[in-house]
Amino acid sequence: MRIRKGDSVVIISGEGKRIASKPGSGGPYKVLQVLDGGERLLVEGVNKVHKHVRRGHPKSPQGGRLHLEMPIAASRCMYFCESCNKAVRVGYRYDTDGQKERHCRSCGASAGSIGKPRPQYASK
Ligand SMILES: [Zn+2]
Repeated sequence: MRIRKGDSVVIISGEGKRIASKPGSGGPYKVLQVLDGGERLLVEGVNKVHKHVRRGHPKSPQGGRLHLEMPIAASRCMYFCESCNKAVRVGYRYDTDGQKERHCRSCGASAGSIGKPRPQYASK
Protein backbone atom coordinates (compact mmCIF):
# COMPACT_ATOMS: atom_id res chain seq x y z
CA MET A 1 0.00 0.00 0.00
CA ARG A 2 1.14 3.49 -0.73
CA ILE A 3 -0.50 5.20 2.21
CA ARG A 4 1.67 6.50 5.01
CA LYS A 5 1.17 7.93 8.47
CA GLY A 6 -0.10 11.52 8.34
CA ASP A 7 -1.72 11.15 4.90
CA SER A 8 -5.26 12.22 4.20
CA VAL A 9 -7.48 9.43 2.95
CA VAL A 10 -11.03 8.98 1.74
CA ILE A 11 -12.96 5.90 2.84
CA ILE A 12 -14.35 4.14 -0.22
CA SER A 13 -16.34 1.34 1.43
CA GLY A 14 -18.12 0.39 4.64
CA GLU A 15 -18.97 2.42 7.70
CA GLY A 16 -16.53 5.28 7.09
CA LYS A 17 -18.13 5.85 3.71
CA ARG A 18 -21.50 6.27 5.37
CA ILE A 19 -19.98 8.86 7.73
CA ALA A 20 -18.41 10.66 4.80
CA SER A 21 -21.71 10.92 2.95
CA LYS A 22 -23.31 12.68 5.94
CA PRO A 23 -23.31 16.46 5.46
CA GLY A 24 -20.71 18.25 7.54
CA SER A 25 -18.76 15.16 8.51
CA GLY A 26 -17.20 14.17 5.21
CA GLY A 27 -13.62 13.19 4.63
CA PRO A 28 -10.79 13.36 4.08
CA TYR A 29 -9.56 11.70 7.24
CA LYS A 30 -6.09 11.68 8.71
CA VAL A 31 -4.12 8.45 9.00
CA LEU A 32 -2.94 8.08 12.60
CA GLN A 33 -0.99 4.86 12.24
CA VAL A 34 -0.09 2.25 9.64
CA LEU A 35 -0.26 -1.35 10.86
CA ASP A 36 0.59 -4.83 9.58
CA GLY A 37 3.08 -3.52 7.04
CA GLY A 38 0.51 -1.28 5.40
CA GLU A 39 -2.39 -3.75 5.33
CA ARG A 40 -4.38 -1.94 7.96
CA LEU A 41 -4.76 1.69 8.96
CA LEU A 42 -5.85 3.58 12.01
CA VAL A 43 -7.87 6.49 10.67
CA GLU A 44 -8.92 9.45 12.78
CA GLY A 45 -12.65 9.41 13.56
CA VAL A 46 -13.36 6.22 11.57
CA ASN A 47 -14.43 2.89 13.11
CA LYS A 48 -14.62 4.30 16.62
CA VAL A 49 -15.68 1.87 19.30
CA HIS A 50 -16.32 1.99 23.03
CA LYS A 51 -13.67 -0.26 24.47
CA HIS A 52 -14.18 -1.39 28.04
CA VAL A 53 -11.01 -1.32 30.11
CA ARG A 54 -10.05 -2.37 33.59
CA ARG A 55 -8.56 -0.07 36.20
CA GLY A 56 -4.91 0.69 35.67
CA HIS A 57 -5.07 1.29 31.93
CA PRO A 58 -2.61 4.11 31.11
CA LYS A 59 -5.30 6.14 29.35
CA SER A 60 -7.99 5.47 31.92
CA PRO A 61 -6.61 4.72 35.42
CA GLN A 62 -10.14 4.45 36.83
CA GLY A 63 -11.18 1.89 34.23
CA GLY A 64 -14.36 2.35 32.23
CA ARG A 65 -14.92 2.96 28.55
CA LEU A 66 -12.53 4.42 26.04
CA HIS A 67 -13.85 5.82 22.79
CA LEU A 68 -11.15 5.04 20.27
CA GLU A 69 -10.43 4.11 16.69
CA MET A 70 -9.91 0.54 15.59
CA PRO A 71 -7.91 -0.36 12.48
CA ILE A 72 -9.60 -0.73 9.10
CA ALA A 73 -8.36 -2.46 5.95
CA ALA A 74 -6.08 -0.27 3.86
CA SER A 75 -7.94 -1.43 0.75
CA ARG A 76 -10.93 0.57 1.95
CA CYS A 77 -8.97 3.82 1.76
CA MET A 78 -7.79 5.96 -1.10
CA TYR A 79 -5.16 8.66 -0.92
CA PHE A 80 -6.64 12.16 -0.97
CA CYS A 81 -4.83 14.69 -3.18
CA GLU A 82 -5.13 18.25 -1.90
CA SER A 83 -4.50 19.89 -5.26
CA CYS A 84 -7.07 17.71 -7.08
CA ASN A 85 -9.41 17.83 -4.07
CA LYS A 86 -10.36 14.19 -4.60
CA ALA A 87 -9.32 10.60 -3.95
CA VAL A 88 -6.57 9.56 -6.35
CA ARG A 89 -4.14 6.76 -7.06
CA VAL A 90 -0.57 7.23 -5.91
CA GLY A 91 2.56 6.41 -7.89
CA TYR A 92 6.28 6.32 -7.16
CA ARG A 93 8.98 8.14 -9.12
CA TYR A 94 12.56 9.36 -8.78
CA ASP A 95 13.43 13.01 -9.22
CA THR A 96 16.56 14.45 -10.83
CA ASP A 97 18.61 13.87 -7.64
CA GLY A 98 17.57 10.24 -7.36
CA GLN A 99 15.20 11.03 -4.51
CA LYS A 100 12.25 8.66 -4.42
CA GLU A 101 8.92 10.34 -4.00
CA ARG A 102 5.24 9.59 -4.19
CA HIS A 103 3.05 11.55 -6.53
CA CYS A 104 -0.56 11.97 -7.48
CA ARG A 105 -1.26 9.98 -10.63
CA SER A 106 -3.95 12.45 -11.58
CA CYS A 107 -2.27 15.87 -11.39
CA GLY A 108 1.36 14.85 -10.82
CA ALA A 109 1.75 16.81 -7.57
CA SER A 110 4.41 15.41 -5.26
CA ALA A 111 3.14 13.66 -2.15
CA GLY A 112 6.44 13.85 -0.28
CA SER A 113 9.76 12.08 -0.62
CA ILE A 114 10.75 8.72 0.83
CA GLY A 115 14.14 7.62 2.10
CA LYS A 116 17.57 8.79 1.03
CA PRO A 117 18.46 9.95 -2.51
CA ARG A 118 19.95 7.25 -4.74
CA PRO A 119 21.84 8.99 -7.57
CA GLN A 120 21.88 5.88 -9.79
CA TYR A 121 18.09 6.20 -10.10
CA ALA A 122 18.12 9.90 -10.96
CA SER A 123 15.72 10.85 -13.74
CA LYS A 124 17.04 12.99 -16.58
ZN1 LIG B 1 -3.56 15.46 -7.63
